[in-house]
Amino acid sequence: MHFHLITLFPNAFDSYLGESIISRAIEEKKIKVSFYNPRDFVTDRWRRVDQRPFGGGPGMVLQAEPILKAVKKAIGRKDRRHIKIVFFSPGGAQFDTAYAQKAAGKYKHIICICGRYEGVDARAIKILRADHISVGPYVLTGGELPAMLVMDCIARQIPGVLGKLESLEENRVASHEVYTRPEVFMWGGKNYRVPEVLRSGNHKKIDAWKLDKNSL
Ligand code: SAM
Repeated sequence: MHFHLITLFPNAFDSYLGESIISRAIEEKKIKVSFYNPRDFVTDRWRRVDQRPFGGGPGMVLQAEPILKAVKKAIGRKDRRHIKIVFFSPGGAQFDTAYAQKAAGKYKHIICICGRYEGVDARAIKILRADHISVGPYVLTGGELPAMLVMDCIARQIPGVLGKLESLEENRVASHEVYTRPEVFMWGGKNYRVPEVLRSGNHKKIDAWKLDKNSL
């Protein structure tokens, strides 16, 4: 799976992509991440990519042309049937595991357009027929965090990224309540015990307990 990130701030991804499971997946070539900065697709001296919005309003809007040129570069000569283009927007459809599973199974390239300021000129998004994806009912400063989140969630679905496919919580009974050693943990003069059922060895009962406390 190749993620293509259209962003004004590629350095924002450094720390996340350089750690743990995602870093290993990149090293082992299970996933690939490329960056395209819209500023590299403008010719003026100030490398300007934003202008004031038609209709008024306080923020600036990213212009269509540098975004389209950056996406065109990402598409290159690839077969469009293998490409999904995603535009991040707080007003988009809620991103979820089902979307990630479908994307991981169907596409080889995910192009993520990270908005900034007041967003991106809507004509670019319409021309590209991009999916409008929201990562939740709140407004963030830019699409970089949503892109990291979506990449992480899709990458988990790719065989080998998590090591064992059984690690995928999405495919098994997993609980948001988890415990590890010691069995009895003392804090502030009180004992905190691991639930009896998890030490019972009875896997039917353990699964029923986990189902009750299911995280998904
Ligand atoms: N007024 C804009 C709107 O309603 O779309 C909000 C712009 S927001 C400050 C800047 C960029 O951050 C957006 O273009 C989008 O790419 C990204 N963004 C912010 N919140 C988001 C969310 N909840 N889900 C996905 N993307 C988000």
